[in-house]
Amino acid sequence: MRALYPGSFDPLTLGHLDLIERGAVLFDGLVVAVLQNPSKTPAFPLERRLEQIQRAIAHLNGVEVRSFDGLTVDMARACGAGVILRGLRAMSDFEFELQLAHTNKSLAPDLETLFLATAAHHSFLSSSVVKEVARFGGNVSRMVPPGVAEDLARLFNQANPSR
Ligand code: ADP
Repeated sequence: MRALYPGSFDPLTLGHLDLIERGAVLFDGLVVAVLQNPSKTPAFPLERRLEQIQRAIAHLNGVEVRSFDGLTVDMARACGAGVILRGLRAMSDFEFELQLAHTNKSLAPDLETLFLATAAHHSFLSSSVVKEVARFGGNVSRMVPPGVAEDLARLFNQANPSR
């Protein structure tokens, strides 16, 4: 069975990467689907986010990266995925994720949403937290892959990404 892992990934964190690595083991194929949301201005343009993920998953077999807009269920079908993979960090994620899962089930009863519990040591990580830390010059090297740390440093104009 193939799975779709959709998200904004603005930017990719080590928490996302952990989920991708575990999804790659569980499924025959995993598509990381990067949402292009025209109503939001991302910190990193779509092409950059795709490159960040591409570089971070180079060591994995059976994982591909694609962009999408529109409905996640349509993207899952287009990719031949039977499962939508999502991560749960804490109870605070649960209500929104459950609502999303029910919505997707009503739109596409043949698709399942599967939640993986985030690794405990990554459960505090979010793309927004990482951006806040980088904005104020903090060290993000244990939060994001090396390529993303460099991109964050460039975005916030810092000379030294590992400070
Ligand atoms: P979205 O805008 O769809 O929430 P995100 O890029 O923030 O996109 O997250 C995509 C998916 O990755 C979601 O299922 C989210 O719960 C999961 N996720 C986010 N942060 C982490 C993390 N630190 N560890 C594991 N999964 C995470």
